[in-house]
Amino acid sequence: MKLNLNSKDFDNVDQIGDNHIGTSSDTPIRKDAFRLNSDEKIEIIIDDVRHIMETLGLDLSDDSLSGTPKRVAKMFVNEIFSGLDPKNKPKASTFENKYNYDEMLVEKNITVYSTCEHHLLPIVGRAHVAYISNGTVVGLSKMNRIVDYYAKRPQVQERLTIQIVRELQSVLNTKDVACVIDAKHLCVNSRGIRDIESSTVTSEFGGKFKNKEVRQEFLNYIQIETKS
Ligand SMILES: [Zn+2]
Repeated sequence: MKLNLNSKDFDNVDQIGDNHIGTSSDTPIRKDAFRLNSDEKIEIIIDDVRHIMETLGLDLSDDSLSGTPKRVAKMFVNEIFSGLDPKNKPKASTFENKYNYDEMLVEKNITVYSTCEHHLLPIVGRAHVAYISNGTVVGLSKMNRIVDYYAKRPQVQERLTIQIVRELQSVLNTKDVACVIDAKHLCVNSRGIRDIESSTVTSEFGGKFKNKEVRQEFLNYIQIETKS
């Protein structure tokens, strides 16, 4: 089902409910998203957070609460939503595949800290990323950084998975990229249905990973327990 969503149309909130429907593989960003710089955004969000807290009835003159609006505003802009700003995108430094290694490379158990865009609650889990080089390789930590960059946005897990694959396909100049994410959504675990055990698995398989055997090899690797 494809919903036609308009950001000004709040009537669809009940229709979407807790179903976590993503509407596009691109993050819905406004055209004027970067008209304000980070400091200007922080100043505005401080007032917004203060307003929410006061509306809830909290006394912001209390020492414990007085710094919260600024703390939250800085955290939104500089940390958990910093991946909205393209200037924070990891630089794409690639290398020639000098080892002629032509099997798949898997980076597994990459920590994912993201935020559900429907509830602004944490998504916490692991991403497993793989590619088969066609002559270009990236540093291993680059894969972690790409995961982290796209995770630091209001997200739906399906979109996050696709954005990671797309970015690596572009950096590595190959379609042969895959990503599996297994994550817990606090909006499911801590509220609503309150199922603390459930987690969500999403996957995106590009190029050779659409082949059943290649896909299975990748899935086998990510089940290997790594002991250090
Ligand atoms: Zn949610």
